[in-house]
Amino acid sequence: MPEYDLAVRGGTLILPELNKEEKLNIGISQGRIARLSPEEMQAKDSLDASGLYISPGFIDSHMHDEEKEDGESIEKALLRQGVTTAIAGNCGSGPLGADILSFRRNPWLNLGYLTGHKKLREASGVIDRYAPAGPDQVKTMKDLLRKELQEGSFGLSIGLEYLPNTPISELEALFEVAVDFKKIWIPVHIREDGPASIRATQEILNLALKWPLRFQISHLGSMTGFGQIKEVLEIIDKARDSGADVTFDCYPYDAFCTELGSAVFDPGFEKRWGKGKEALEIASGPNRGRWLDEEDLYERLRQEEPECLVIAHVIKQNEVELCLSHPECAIASDGLLKGGRGHPRAAGTFPRALRMLRKAGCSWPEAVRKCTSLPAEMNWLDKGVIKEGADADLVIFDGEKLCDRATFSEELLPPEGIKFVIIGGQAAVKDNEVLGSPKGKLMKRVPSRE
Ligand SMILES: [Zn+2]
Repeated sequence: MPEYDLAVRGGTLILPELNKEEKLNIGISQGRIARLSPEEMQAKDSLDASGLYISPGFIDSHMHDEEKEDGESIEKALLRQGVTTAIAGNCGSGPLGADILSFRRNPWLNLGYLTGHKKLREASGVIDRYAPAGPDQVKTMKDLLRKELQEGSFGLSIGLEYLPNTPISELEALFEVAVDFKKIWIPVHIREDGPASIRATQEILNLALKWPLRFQISHLGSMTGFGQIKEVLEIIDKARDSGADVTFDCYPYDAFCTELGSAVFDPGFEKRWGKGKEALEIASGPNRGRWLDEEDLYERLRQEEPECLVIAHVIKQNEVELCLSHPECAIASDGLLKGGRGHPRAAGTFPRALRMLRKAGCSWPEAVRKCTSLPAEMNWLDKGVIKEGADADLVIFDGEKLCDRATFSEELLPPEGIKFVIIGGQAAVKDNEVLGSPKGKLMKRVPSRE
């Protein structure tokens, strides 16, 4: 009688929490790692991982899976690059559970949601994104947030650059609700980018020093903080040393991407970025591939197609590298697609970051930690490690070949070097091909069930 459902033989395990590599076979039963051993194992099925590395499945704590129609494309793009668990709804856009969960009963990867400040405002009748919410609206937002957190939302996401005049008192009213719960995570897209990044980061650090909640500065270096990244990292370190519970994430590209109609692209961005419309490329919709320095295109599309995605080629590569190399920086994709189109980060972030980190001198366990156990700890997820009893979520890859292939013109090209992605003990990807039916689970924050 075979002892296990699946045996993965001959591979080298990357154990980020122990900071080491070890050659062991893995016996998997009922979706969990049942045994790690150099000995031969009897199993119903087996995978040969000789010459390959085996990492815990990558954990993406920042992606966008809020749009009903693009769920499958973004989940599959992430899955092909080795992501087995993701948290969606960052930057204030996390949906209310009633609006999305019934559409995501069978996700392609393990998926949890944040509740977005912007969605709480919309549901409370706040129409003007440049105006603060009124007292009755704030009360409605608080009631809605309480309900969402009771029902298993992973936390409150905030996108201040999209709602730039939000008073701190409006956020603190929501924190009054969040502190009644355990293990609440508050990722923040800060209020301003470019030269104002230090001030905008400090604003959140002050909140993290004041409130007993866990904060995250989102897509640092890759969308926010650019031009000032060294100083921004210094003030984050200082706040952490002073007891603030604050972390950050980054995606490894020198261009960011968001909707053209958002406040990020309000007139005046040229001054902040030192680059103008010639650096802005349309990434989705009928005008994909055009650049916004064409006559009237910016003004026209802001009116007619505000939801189209724009890639802004305005970030400095050396700043992204500085951010990625910080020991507490988690890798996260910010993956976002519309109609299957968008930024290559959706398909390339994790292999690209690992390659860059290796080039910068990180060991495999150090580099993999930023994709696995570090984001798992940030979100109190019982994942991101390879040990007996853990969920059998794994990525099996060729360390020599691993690299991203997605580009700004072919943004969904899968990476090279990933042989298998395993979710809950089942092969979900083989040689870039997504296999069979969805194998992920819709996740809820655990204390919500206590
Ligand atoms: Zn954002």
